[in-house]
Amino acid sequence: MQNRPEKLINDGVRLDGRGPDEIRPIKIEAGVLNRADGSCYIEWGGNKVLAAVYGPREAHPRHLQDSRKAIIKYRYNMASFSVEDRKRPGPDRRSVEISKVSREALAPVLMLEYFPRSSIDIFVEILQADAGTRTTGITAASVALADAGIPMKNLVSAISVGKADGEVILDLIREEDNYGEADMPVAMITETGDITLLQMDGNLTGEEFIKALNFAKKGCESVYKLQRRSLIEKYEKSCSD
Ligand code: UDP
Repeated sequence: MQNRPEKLINDGVRLDGRGPDEIRPIKIEAGVLNRADGSCYIEWGGNKVLAAVYGPREAHPRHLQDSRKAIIKYRYNMASFSVEDRKRPGPDRRSVEISKVSREALAPVLMLEYFPRSSIDIFVEILQADAGTRTTGITAASVALADAGIPMKNLVSAISVGKADGEVILDLIREEDNYGEADMPVAMITETGDITLLQMDGNLTGEEFIKALNFAKKGCESVYKLQRRSLIEKYEKSCSD
């Protein structure tokens, strides 16, 4: 791993030239995979993430079936080549934890009771990682679920906030995530302001926490607009084809 840069923020300017409350460039494309029911590809700064959704389909094995509602399966997988030091392939504690919290971040918007005994399967593949992969994954999965036509009350948007060199910052890059004072991924139903995921590593004062949450809200509003636009573009394209 690289050494810690001498400064993460210089006169209010971050290593990649952004101000504290600016997000990295984001490109979202819906419906990129022919064989999935729904899919989404996101490039978010240095992150490249693909999400695929299958279902609702009969849940297997059958003992997992819930007679009242669909179950959600979420698999977050970081490719070996996605990070600087090759990642050992296969699940590990981190990916199991991220899969669990991501599934819980999306569950509140899904109308699961329409599909008893079914399963909605979400696969998130991290092809390239530069911090914020769980939030990029949730954002991509939300678009892929909508692309699959699964009844949803709303979209979920996600972004990370944190603190580096004493400043509250939005949308951390890897150096800020690794060497900063705090990292706090947040997912929310942007239209209602409901928070569906909030984790934190590090320390923030109460005041900094409120500021970080406001940054996250602002970030999610931008992400939400891009998510909606990607779905509109997909349907405009399929209408003109
Ligand atoms: N990372 C890595 N190897 C790993 C796990 C993470 O290099 O095995 C890097 C990767 O760039 C990731 C970042 O560390 O995006 C931050 O990881 P974290 O666990 O905080 O999750 P994330 O911010 O990606 O949701």
